[in-house]
Amino acid sequence: MAPARTEAQHAPSKETKQGLQTPESQLLHRSLIYRPEMVESASGLEIRLADGRTVLDACGGAAVSALGHNNQQVLEAMLAQAQKVAYVHTQAYTTSAAEELAGLLVENGRPHGLEKAFFVGSGSEAIESAVKLARQYFYEKGEPQRVHFVSRRQAYHGNSMAAMSLSSNIVRKLPYQGFGYPNVSHVTPAFEYRYKLDGEDEDGFTRRLLDELDDEFQRIGPGNVIAFVAEPVVGATAGCVPPPRGYLAGVRSLCDKYGILLILDEVMCGAGRCGTFFAFEQEGDATPDILTLAKGLGGGYAPIAGILIHEKVVDALRKGSGSFVNGHTYQAHPIVCATALAVQKIIRQDRLVERCAELGPVLEGMLREELQDCKTVGDIRGRGLFWGVEFVRDKATKETFDPAIGFGARVQQEAFRRGVAIYPGSGTVDGMKGDHVLLAPPYTVKPDELRLICKVLKEAVKSQEALHLSDLTD
Ligand code: PMP
Repeated sequence: MAPARTEAQHAPSKETKQGLQTPESQLLHRSLIYRPEMVESASGLEIRLADGRTVLDACGGAAVSALGHNNQQVLEAMLAQAQKVAYVHTQAYTTSAAEELAGLLVENGRPHGLEKAFFVGSGSEAIESAVKLARQYFYEKGEPQRVHFVSRRQAYHGNSMAAMSLSSNIVRKLPYQGFGYPNVSHVTPAFEYRYKLDGEDEDGFTRRLLDELDDEFQRIGPGNVIAFVAEPVVGATAGCVPPPRGYLAGVRSLCDKYGILLILDEVMCGAGRCGTFFAFEQEGDATPDILTLAKGLGGGYAPIAGILIHEKVVDALRKGSGSFVNGHTYQAHPIVCATALAVQKIIRQDRLVERCAELGPVLEGMLREELQDCKTVGDIRGRGLFWGVEFVRDKATKETFDPAIGFGARVQQEAFRRGVAIYPGSGTVDGMKGDHVLLAPPYTVKPDELRLICKVLKEAVKSQEALHLSDLTD
């Protein structure tokens, strides 16, 4: 595999000004400095760049690709649906593709009381829909005073207005202060490495988080709260953080105590990636009232996200207005649904959720083995095929690197230069300090590819340690 190299994304380095591979893009990207790599084609885990280099996809884009690239069965399903009917509006029509896809998801959801599905085009749209549906639930029940949402610091739930308001990624919100949905407050993240106190055990940490949430409900007035919103395993902002034992089940009981809804955001961690179809299934009795799913749902073959809705919410609509007062022109788009349906059928036929569960400990073992000598690896955490590695300047104190260095981004760039694509992240501590990278390979990844990914990650980390830890001795 010819190693790839990329321009700096977060921390422009000298290489940025040297050879630019691609002419300035006509698309508006997040960074105007960054020149994206031109991709020629991709199949399996291999992404081929226009200049002949290849990259092993160890993060599925942003934890999206589940089957790898260029799966013929999915492509055939896409074409077959396009030839049958490409588009109809849900106002008057449904299609077997959309119905069958909803049926498959509801089959997974029914044991938890999740009864209906609603399909949109992105994770942010799914969150917007979840927020509106939760509000409509209380409107139907005659509790219009409920307007407040509680979420967590460090959360990321998307870019659109309500999703951004639920999130607390400072960098992404900076230009939009004063915008968005105002009635949101944030509590402490369920993130042991950064927020568990010295001397506190896991159960004590869980209790403290639940007490804080209870206090927050009390402060607002529990009768004014619509929902608590959280990712079961936190993805983008903190880097694959599973909750402490008993936390989500405790949240569920607190919500029940006050009649508050629980919205779980599984846009990134759901659809099998964590080793169970829903990530919350590993958390005891933590059934959500509304669940969002996205990335692994279409595996990147189509832009699709969905919400799954508990019978209690469906019942309130049935008894009330009889419909969800929210719609999009392209919701449940037939080609998109047929594509996701093909992806979901393959995931089930090839037992890929079970494969994620089996490969989880394999990947964890390899990460711990390969990175054991790295001086900057403070924490390794995750579930299934969803793992984060957090970097610190000092393991004993958990001191972060100066954010201006962009240590995590540099590790990602170095790994890319060596032919492995991982996902960079920053901001694991309040104030957007902290560095991590995220591994989320397609569910079809082979053990020898996992080994290669871990070895390249080690080389990338060591190369950056040599540059940025020069003042520290062994
Ligand atoms: N929720 C979570 C947990 C996410 O990780 C993301 C995207 N990374 C979103 C919502 C927003 O999804 P999208 O980018 O598809 O709008």
